[in-house]
Amino acid sequence: MKLIKVYSSVIVLTLLFSCGGPKVNTENDKTQKQITNENINVPQFNEDSAYYYVDKQVSFGPRVPNSKPHNECALFLEQAFKKYTKNVTVQKTRVRAYDGTALNVANIIASFKPEIRNRIFLCAHWDSRPVADNDPDPEMAKKPILGANDGASGVGVLVEIARLLCKNEPKIGVDLILFDAEDYGQPQNSTLPQKPDTWALGAQYWAKNPHNPDYTAKYGILLDMVGAKDATFLKEGYSMKFAPDIVEKVWNIAQKLGYANFFINKETSSITDDHYYVNTINGIPTIDIIHYDNTTSSGFPSHWHTHNDNMDNISKVTLKAVGQTLLNVVFEEK
Ligand SMILES: [Zn+2]
Repeated sequence: MKLIKVYSSVIVLTLLFSCGGPKVNTENDKTQKQITNENINVPQFNEDSAYYYVDKQVSFGPRVPNSKPHNECALFLEQAFKKYTKNVTVQKTRVRAYDGTALNVANIIASFKPEIRNRIFLCAHWDSRPVADNDPDPEMAKKPILGANDGASGVGVLVEIARLLCKNEPKIGVDLILFDAEDYGQPQNSTLPQKPDTWALGAQYWAKNPHNPDYTAKYGILLDMVGAKDATFLKEGYSMKFAPDIVEKVWNIAQKLGYANFFINKETSSITDDHYYVNTINGIPTIDIIHYDNTTSSGFPSHWHTHNDNMDNISKVTLKAVGQTLLNVVFEEK
């Protein structure tokens, strides 16, 4: 993959903010706090709020770079983050797709306690796939997908976490990174010569050009397809190669919270996703929480890269399992 850097700008915007919320009931947030073994207050993840943020992204339509829904959703996500922190970075650049198209992309980053070196990051991709290459209908396969699960679900979880980090200060620093152009990779049925590194273009850019030049974090956690009903998250190959201790930590916390039906103690093969490039370019140990399904030929849920990847698949129960696990990881971290 050749990155063609036409222009690059990092804009840090400082605005007044208050910890507002979406149009769902978040009034009970305070009384719902949960106390861990170590007497740490962990905020309760609100799955209604997360669902709202998933639905809102999907309502713009397919978020494919260079399209109107993509621009509109970028603005929405930037503004959502700005409600919850004054430290929002929109990292705009242009990258080259496998077919030569110049893609205008934006990584959107919210930082909490940016002055603290002891920090972790959570990330997800916010774009959706420009084609539905797994769709059985050849005509429909040419059209971009809504990506309710593949894209919007992870981002919905992260925006809800931003809302809670605004109201509840963590001990450590936290960055929430929304990567662009993860899903613009070269289709297998493409007639062009197969090129390497055509996926995760936004993450590749960030790994080479982090939003702070001396940026570092203890570790990172990527979310991808974390919203489907009865999702199963297996211990993914690259995560186990680069950050096995983080996988164990996250899976242990999930199981302690009662989410062992989602976080399965089984390993699976390696998946090329945003975390691969953070691990190999930037060197920050980063894991991927990704829905793996060994009953399908692709290894992914049957709606993957089809037009069935819509809100019908999104389960608040799954969003809660993932979101609460991440909040416990953040608040238990020393
Ligand atoms: Zn995808």
